[in-house]
Amino acid sequence: MFGRLVGVRDADFTKILGWPGYRVYEHEIDEVARTLRLWVRRKRRTRRLICSGCGRRVREVHDISEREVRDLPWGEYRTTVVVEVCRVRCPNCGVKVERVAQLPSKAPFSKRFEDAVGLACESGAARQVSRQFDLAPTTVRAIDLRYLERWAAQRRRPALKHMGVDEIWLGKRMKFLTVVSNLESNEPVWFGRDRTHTTLDTFFREALSRGQRRRVVAACVDMWQAFTTSIHEWAPRCRIIYDKFHVMQHANAAVDEVRRAEFFRKGGLARQVVKGKRWLLLSRWVHLSAAKRQQLNALFALNRRVFKAYLLKESLERLWTYRYEGAMVRYLQSWIAQLRWQRLSAFERLADMLVDHLDGLLNHCRTRVRFGVVEAINGNIKALLRRGRGYTNLRYLLLKAQRIAVTQTEFIAITRAA
Ligand SMILES: [Zn+2]
Repeated sequence: MFGRLVGVRDADFTKILGWPGYRVYEHEIDEVARTLRLWVRRKRRTRRLICSGCGRRVREVHDISEREVRDLPWGEYRTTVVVEVCRVRCPNCGVKVERVAQLPSKAPFSKRFEDAVGLACESGAARQVSRQFDLAPTTVRAIDLRYLERWAAQRRRPALKHMGVDEIWLGKRMKFLTVVSNLESNEPVWFGRDRTHTTLDTFFREALSRGQRRRVVAACVDMWQAFTTSIHEWAPRCRIIYDKFHVMQHANAAVDEVRRAEFFRKGGLARQVVKGKRWLLLSRWVHLSAAKRQQLNALFALNRRVFKAYLLKESLERLWTYRYEGAMVRYLQSWIAQLRWQRLSAFERLADMLVDHLDGLLNHCRTRVRFGVVEAINGNIKALLRRGRGYTNLRYLLLKAQRIAVTQTEFIAITRAA
């Protein structure tokens, strides 16, 4: 059943469609297939057109053709808009297609249709969205990427003064990802494959101008030498800060090492108690329920060394409550003094590392940076990776993570329920 609606004027269609500057001059309805087709053209042909190449206004039209795009549905009717598009003769670019606001790319979708898909992708996985809009998942991801690119192009990016550098393990195939983030605006700013100093060199060379590099005043990094070399070279004014998040990762690794050693050393009953307590030992005491604390206490009663390791880890965290260098140094000295006669080699190595990196630890007192940002961004990226496959495109993953950071006004601290 094809046909035109009797009694409905094209002017009404123009109003409902609501594309600024365009009018509907023809329509066709299929009541069986539930489709609506609208033919539109500019309201005034005489108006100057805009060259899509350079953005300048052009008067001369080369030729006119039609493009078909899917638009938002009208009730139950899937709507297709056939648009008259001109090619212009631009003095700069030669023959070029005019710029049409509702046609953002070469794909057969209107801008507001893509916006609707992109918005849906903010709360749902691509597979869900593909069902909702009856599109292939790959098409949904392509639309989402364009939606995010348009968003990124029009936004003013905050200056990078405090940066965080972190690494994320992406799995056997993709290996490591280096994440550079802006600690003031809570967002990742750059992703790079691998985690060597050349990875960070690439960031400084390609993502920042000379002026921008000079404006970076603090960098939170792991005590891993590779990144600091690169920072010293490219941003000489930048202070290296060994932040709590990264140092505590080393402390957790030390606890784990002690646990494993005790697990193998002891047999029988003790082994049963140590078994499966890994993440309990890595959690903070204050986050644990009464039942979990009891489990830990049972373990500590049996194994003094694991208990000691746990206490050492917990007490190290207090280092970052100090605001004065002298006090921080004194606390670190007393913490190291506790290691004597304990024969906890994992912690002795950690202590050596802390002493070697003392200046960067004390920078915590000299330059205030926000805590927990690197951790939160890290958690968001991992959540994104868990939720959807298809992030082999790092640019897409970055934009997605940035969008999350900007739309979520407040970060939820990632803590595991006890
Ligand atoms: Zn042009």
